[in-house]
Amino acid sequence: MGASAAALIIGGSLRTAMAAAARAAYPEECCGLLVGRYLPADGAGTGARWQVTRVVPAANRHPQPRRHFEVDPVTHIALLRQLREREAAEGEIEILLGHYHSHPEAAALPSASDLAQANDPTLIWVIIGPVQGGAPDVTAWRVIPRPAGPAGFEPLPFAAATEQGAVKNA
Ligand SMILES: [Zn+2]
Repeated sequence: MGASAAALIIGGSLRTAMAAAARAAYPEECCGLLVGRYLPADGAGTGARWQVTRVVPAANRHPQPRRHFEVDPVTHIALLRQLREREAAEGEIEILLGHYHSHPEAAALPSASDLAQANDPTLIWVIIGPVQGGAPDVTAWRVIPRPAGPAGFEPLPFAAATEQGAVKNA
């Protein structure tokens, strides 16, 4: 069967960089933005792909950075401006795909705090954790809007190694 579900394409070096940022920020949460391309399902069995081409680290501006995160709005706005200017000059090459943050002490699963902030269904979430005690897991999530209640998260698997390799060599 050639069909494949929606997936995130992100090179190993980017995952390693996010894990390193999470360790550097410990005991606080690190955060940053994911930039890349969105490839819709191709109609021939391959699901949608979010292809991360780079990550943009940001300061965590939340007043309780050990338990929450807030991507520095200055970094966020500057990135959106840069993407807009580049699109105007060269056509759409990269878009803001989502963001990442770490869980210093907890597993890489969406927390109650994350659920409360999951209000934009177009953004992908990457979570790194637990940072304490070694090599953290890196997981990815889509926001699922629910008309009748609060939004939820659905796991977004990483694409197969062959696709990851294609990114690395791109
Ligand atoms: Zn979280």
